[in-house]
Amino acid sequence: MDSTQAVATSPYFPDHGDLRYQVRHYELTLDYRPETDRLTGSARIEALAAQGPDRLREFALDLADFRTGRVLVDGRAAHHTHRGGRLRIRPAEPPAAGAAFTVEVRWSGRPKPVRSPWGGIGWTETTDGALVASQPVGAPSWFPCNDRPSDKASYLISLTVPSAYTVVLGGRLLARTAHASTTTWVYEQPAPTPTYLVGLSIGPYRAVRLDDPQPGAVPQLGYVPARLLPYFEADFGRQPRMMRLFQELFGRYPFGEYTVVVADEELDVPVEAQGLSLFGANHLDGQRGWERLVAHELAHQWFGNSVTVADWRHIWLNEGFAKYAEWLWSERSGGPAAHALAAAAHRRLAALPQDLRLADPGRSRMFDDRVYERGGLTVHALRCTLGDRTFFGLLRDWTTVHRHSTVTTADFTAAATWHAGRPLDAFFTAWLTEPALPPLPAGTESG
Ligand SMILES: [Zn+2]
Repeated sequence: MDSTQAVATSPYFPDHGDLRYQVRHYELTLDYRPETDRLTGSARIEALAAQGPDRLREFALDLADFRTGRVLVDGRAAHHTHRGGRLRIRPAEPPAAGAAFTVEVRWSGRPKPVRSPWGGIGWTETTDGALVASQPVGAPSWFPCNDRPSDKASYLISLTVPSAYTVVLGGRLLARTAHASTTTWVYEQPAPTPTYLVGLSIGPYRAVRLDDPQPGAVPQLGYVPARLLPYFEADFGRQPRMMRLFQELFGRYPFGEYTVVVADEELDVPVEAQGLSLFGANHLDGQRGWERLVAHELAHQWFGNSVTVADWRHIWLNEGFAKYAEWLWSERSGGPAAHALAAAAHRRLAALPQDLRLADPGRSRMFDDRVYERGGLTVHALRCTLGDRTFFGLLRDWTTVHRHSTVTTADFTAAATWHAGRPLDAFFTAWLTEPALPPLPAGTESG
């Protein structure tokens, strides 16, 4: 039963997530000491048992190799085993189908990244603090969770660290309370958030406002090591303008605020989290050399974070649109037009093996550059096919209808077909299903 459930949960990660329940809210109380690299946590999880004929006799949370204390379900001690990253729980009084229940878990130990085909992901100790970027399966490296992208919940996270450190999480900082030598930071993320998008950084950061003088502008904040502040102001200076453009193109920004962190570390790539993006020191050069990535991560707030893939087969819906947002920003900020960037990407892809199916690339290729580039090209080809008016109407409708929910490729092709007012089967088969690279259509009126 468990394996059948798991396969349905996540074809690429059958050992993560559980469909037998859905989390509504995580309340996490954490304490982290960088000097000993020790994390102590307690979680109160509000969940709903799935509908069905049976009570919830057993379920699992994903949690890495920590020492766990007792587990309570609805306040009563529950039988549990903790092995291979799964905390399997049998409640003393199984919740009825469809009923709300609470789980309480305590854990402690040295957090370690989760091993994956892409190296360690999740909680990572840095030279002076910690960084958490969990996409796609790193969340159990620091808290017990239902680790599937289709389970989105709200969060209240309280984290105590030595007072020299700053804690940065996505969402609103509710309180910062100093004790004798430590400080407790309390953040709230009310928007539905999948586990992989709960990002975090702990470090000696300075806070910088990226102010937009327009009334009603989205609050934007940066957390940056002091030595990098001059670069940051140059490299992120146009982000408020980018935010205005993306709201015009993609609809209202989906969260209460947007925060960026620049860690004092080299990161291969920046990573998006909910209301937050994490960059490396190597993404600053003081000359806007990586501005396309500033656009890419911001665009994920709509594509991926608000409108989330139901499972990882559909990752092009995240990366194709974030890539295309890079090209749109270029086009609208005085750089090369999207069509020129698409033509260059098309030339690059034409020279590479054409053996990837964009709509289901397989786990080992979900972060292949070709998913990003062909994804961006598919979006551009659709724009060329529909024309700007219909295309941008489709984008705004997509982000509005599916705001804070989860989607599949079939949802997108149905929405595009509706906006086109004619069948697009041949178009989508060529771009999404067939590995061969289709020719790029002629450019649009403006691009
Ligand atoms: Zn991305």
